[in-house]
Amino acid sequence: MSGLFADTHIHLEQYAPEEAERMLREFRSAGGAYVVAVSMNLESARRTERLARQYPGLVRPAYGFHPEQPLPSAEEEEALFAWMERRTALGEAAAAEGAPRPMVAVGEVGLPYYSRQEAAERGEALDEAGYVRLLERFVVFAARHDLPIVLHAVYEDADTACDLLERHGVRRAHFHWFKGSAETVERMIASGYSISFTPDILYEDEIRELALRYPADRVMSETDGPWPFEGPFAGQATHPSMTADVCREWAALRGLSEAEAQVVLLANAERFYG
Ligand SMILES: [Zn+2]
Repeated sequence: MSGLFADTHIHLEQYAPEEAERMLREFRSAGGAYVVAVSMNLESARRTERLARQYPGLVRPAYGFHPEQPLPSAEEEEALFAWMERRTALGEAAAAEGAPRPMVAVGEVGLPYYSRQEAAERGEALDEAGYVRLLERFVVFAARHDLPIVLHAVYEDADTACDLLERHGVRRAHFHWFKGSAETVERMIASGYSISFTPDILYEDEIRELALRYPADRVMSETDGPWPFEGPFAGQATHPSMTADVCREWAALRGLSEAEAQVVLLANAERFYG
């Protein structure tokens, strides 16, 4: 697919359908190549799948269970995994025909860093073990089907995720909107994992420093839309075209031209999700 930049992490199904349609049209005319649409749970996955069917190639779907919410019931969990199994089976048929794949990655999955912080502030504890067990099941699924995995795992949670990835031999891991200690960053670089930058690369010092340190061949652009941003984006609805701003800012930080940065970031996304 032609284009200059990709939004490698967006919750497209959380926008109203007409808004998603308008945004995708604007994204294409601004030079957008494609979006990777992640899912929150089975209901969200069904909506993501409808979007992927509606915009083949432009919307590349990922399915999983977002960790910043209560754990699913055993029935819900089984239904989600059964549904994902069927998507991977369809994927083999699609690949044989050269059609867009019905599932490009497992995601969004991970560990509940922010929910844990909030629980601690209320003086409560979170059932961490349940989340780790569920994440491990997704990692095993990714390994078995040779799929990339999209992780929500920041700070110390990223180390737990790295342990699971190593245990099951998963090498294609995308830690979206990653933040973490210098030690964790070094570990992830050594493992060859990818990260992505959101529009906060324009104004968050922690992210700008990470952009200078992380290898240029392992970074991508994303929005995590509809999550809202601050700085120059305050008050604006998050739009996949904001990845053009991410490219521009990463280029400035790394001393590249905007065109060079677009080529690098899109090639990284293509290698990971293509
Ligand atoms: Zn997300």
